[in-house]
Amino acid sequence: MAGGQRLVVVGADAAGMSAAHQARRVTAARGHDLDVVVLERTTHTSYSACGIPYWVAGDVPDGSALVARTAQEHRAMGVALRTGVEVLALDLSRRTVRARDLASGDVENLPFDQLVLATGARAVAPDWATGGDGTPVPGVDVVKTLDDGRAWVDRLAGSAGRCPEHAVVVGGGYIGLEMAEAFVRRGLSTTLVTRGEVMGTLDRDLGERVRHALGRAGVEVVVGAEVDAVGTRPDGSVRCVSAGGRDFPGDVVALGLGARPASELAARAGLPLGDLGGLLPDDRQQVADGVWAAGDCCESVARIGGERVFVPLGTHANKQGRVAGENLAGGSARFEGVLGTAVTRFEAAGVEVEIGRTGPTSQQIARAGWDAVSLVTESTTASGYMPQASPIAVKVIADRATRRLLGVQLVGGRGTAKRVDTAAVALWTEQRVDDVAAMDLSYAPPFSPVWDPVQIACRRLADRL
Ligand SMILES: Cc1cc2nc3c(=O)[nH]c(=O)nc-3n(C[C@H](O)[C@H](O)[C@H](O)COP(=O)(O)OP(=O)(O)OC[C@H]3O[C@@H](n4cnc5c(N)ncnc54)[C@H](O)[C@@H]3O)c2cc1C
Repeated sequence: MAGGQRLVVVGADAAGMSAAHQARRVTAARGHDLDVVVLERTTHTSYSACGIPYWVAGDVPDGSALVARTAQEHRAMGVALRTGVEVLALDLSRRTVRARDLASGDVENLPFDQLVLATGARAVAPDWATGGDGTPVPGVDVVKTLDDGRAWVDRLAGSAGRCPEHAVVVGGGYIGLEMAEAFVRRGLSTTLVTRGEVMGTLDRDLGERVRHALGRAGVEVVVGAEVDAVGTRPDGSVRCVSAGGRDFPGDVVALGLGARPASELAARAGLPLGDLGGLLPDDRQQVADGVWAAGDCCESVARIGGERVFVPLGTHANKQGRVAGENLAGGSARFEGVLGTAVTRFEAAGVEVEIGRTGPTSQQIARAGWDAVSLVTESTTASGYMPQASPIAVKVIADRATRRLLGVQLVGGRGTAKRVDTAAVALWTEQRVDDVAAMDLSYAPPFSPVWDPVQIACRRLADRL
């Protein structure tokens, strides 16, 4: 890339700031100048949304601890970061972005040579969660930004004039699960309502195990039901939710219903979107000449199966941003797809369950037409005679013809979740179940039985094939 150019980045969180800094580093290393301007609508930059449920639970004392790098720190590193500035439109032929300073109302057209779109995703909030005018019903909220986190902390501390006693979580995915943990730990009686099974990114038989763990912690779990209305008090605040013809009391209602790519700017500028509503970058994160996209506003390519998927995770946003930054500065980095590797946990009221998953589920595999075989193995997270040994269930799924490992899911006690990374490496490198069973994995009694649980499962599946 020629020196003296301007890069404009829209969005200053994981993807945008990774792109900005990588572009700056690579151009500097090549002895070029790059004017890096980042425009961010809010006042927040580079924070861990992932930590918000733990802030609400009380594990993290203050939201500022979730900020990895402040706006001032970014500026000190040479990025012209402007917060409180919303990008209104992109003109890809004139190569300008139209931006409004939200404090002054001033609108300007800012020229760019290279553009990175890192506008993220929006949390889903159905019509019933808002009044007729679109204003949220007091007490009903999503969990997405630092401001949402602050609102949740204040709400639980009684900012609405009373401390809530009953919480409802709508949605049984990882954010729903983590908010249920937060509510139980804060002493609220908690109901979780979900359309499918709890943890729908797992096969149903493993999701059931998570549901039972929640039940043991006193969470009322309602599966196969959709919330279709909220009941309110005379002051307009939420009192209950209705689902499947029943009312469930809720002084607060957390929405964990997933996210949609924030891709409207790109669509209005004529950039193509996929069926799932996200931008469609190539493996260099490029969407048009000199235009790049990264993070939750994008669809990704599934490494197994090759279809476009929407997996809005911080792990991908950081890597994709780095790839975009590298390439726009003249490099040749590749983002090589996603397996959907993810971990979470529920730990409250004396119940501890960790969850890990990688690769497609059995249902996705069947839809893709693979002839797959699967097996669930029960084991322990440490040698059975050690005090810390907890049960762990491992589900492995493999292609019948080639014996290639396609998916692994884990549900168990402490020490379960991060075992999924071994499986993810095996999937990434296209190993067979026999290969995993033969690998040199570690063992000592406090950490594992002599055969690692993932290996036991692969060995048993290999025997069966
Ligand atoms: C509660 C919660 C828990 C999570 N836990 C995990 C986890 O454990 N592990 C994991 O991997 N991921 C987790 N995630 C997901 C992870 O936080 C996201 O994938 C990541 O933040 C995406 O980064 P991003 O930069 O693509 O988008 P975002 O973080 O959404 O940032 C986009 C930015 O663009 C700005 N913007 C948008 N439009 C404009 C515009 N027109 N003008 C100016 N600025 C604009 C927005 O204000 C925003 O700051 C979690 C998310 C949440 C909400």
